[in-house]
Amino acid sequence: MEYNYDVVVIGGGLAGLVSAGILASNGYSVSLIEKGSYPRNKVCGEFMCLESEPAIRQMGVSLSDLSPIKIDHFTLSTVHGKTAKLNLPQPGIGISRYKLEEVLYKRLLELGVDVLCKTMVEKVERDTAQDKHLLLDQNGKNYWAKVVVGAYGKRSILQLPNLNRSGYFGAKNYYRFPLTTNEVQLHIFPSGYAGMSNVENGLVNFCYLGKTSDLKKCGGIEAYQKQIVSQNPFLKRLLNEGEPMLDKTLTISQIDFGHRKRVTDGMLHVGDAGGVIHPLSGNGMSMALKSAQILSQHVQRFLDGEITRTQLESAYSKSWEKAFRIRMISSKFYQALFENSWGSNLAVAALRNKTLGKRLIKLTQGKPKNYITEVGYVG
Ligand SMILES: Cc1cc2nc3c(=O)[nH]c(=O)nc-3n(C[C@H](O)[C@H](O)[C@H](O)COP(=O)(O)OP(=O)(O)OC[C@H]3O[C@@H](n4cnc5c(N)ncnc54)[C@H](O)[C@@H]3O)c2cc1C
Repeated sequence: MEYNYDVVVIGGGLAGLVSAGILASNGYSVSLIEKGSYPRNKVCGEFMCLESEPAIRQMGVSLSDLSPIKIDHFTLSTVHGKTAKLNLPQPGIGISRYKLEEVLYKRLLELGVDVLCKTMVEKVERDTAQDKHLLLDQNGKNYWAKVVVGAYGKRSILQLPNLNRSGYFGAKNYYRFPLTTNEVQLHIFPSGYAGMSNVENGLVNFCYLGKTSDLKKCGGIEAYQKQIVSQNPFLKRLLNEGEPMLDKTLTISQIDFGHRKRVTDGMLHVGDAGGVIHPLSGNGMSMALKSAQILSQHVQRFLDGEITRTQLESAYSKSWEKAFRIRMISSKFYQALFENSWGSNLAVAALRNKTLGKRLIKLTQGKPKNYITEVGYVG
């Protein structure tokens, strides 16, 4: 059996859901293929910059209907608990991936997108004669697409040969714990850092990035949290006094921050598949949405016959660089800084100067003029 679409999107995280949503809203035939199902929890700090709210609005979903938590204060602490606090240059929101992805998924169904869950794309072949792509899933089904969007995240069977084995892992749990509602906190611990901020239902998202070698030395997540994470006094307090909500802390391994291509063999990459930003920036979700929006604009012009495939690939790559290059570079630099105790002391000292602090934060985010502020909040 064969299926034909204008666009097939591989992967239904934020980047895939929004790419599919915008293109379907504009009348193209779209299928989204996702190996998992909805709703689900994901390892993510769930602090979202508002820069990309228009991308969600473009597919007919209003963030204000989801009652996000407004977050406009930031605290950074070193391993020894030295802190810097400042107002964020632009507010963000706290919202769980569980809720956000489910709402976007339901919207895709309303828009008539063929969403195939529990389906994994195993192979993508380019048919240059027909200027199309053929996708094969694990059940041997074939899908033809004029455009293929690779939205398969940080690590997928489709890109494995090009990835490095990375030394980082990520972990997340929700806690009941008193935390100022409008604040996102970033706490450094040896060779890692953890974010804490509120999401809906009065829960605190606790999410961190650490070194796999340290985890192995400790022999498991509980011991790692006790021996390594708890060296930061703020995190020690959360782990000792907070009540974990998920039975088991979620983890992901092998997070590779290495270079990714925006286009491979005609397939256009969005979200993490096109470039993984360090989580300390709190910008990966925003980049997933914004890259989906940028990509959709170029794909529409291609499907309408206004530009050729070569022009599509080149225009998308250039727009991606323009939108994200600076934040990718600055986040990489801050990550390197945080891995040394002198570096984290320096970062705290810099952020204590409010003007400099705001400038440094802005470098990891989109341009303020692109932000919108009229989203309705709770909290
Ligand atoms: C520890 C940590 C904390 C973070 N905290 C924040 C934060 O606070 N704020 C922020 O903005 N960002 C944060 N991020 C980054 C953010 O989570 C990612 O940038 C974002 O999830 C990227 O979305 P995506 O849609 O590109 O990928 P994903 O959400 O990973 O989605 C990819 C999807 O593709 C599917 N898939 C993969 N391969 C296939 C296949 N072959 N066939 C079908 N489906 C496939 C997967 O099942 C998955 O659902 C954090 C990241 C980490 C690691």
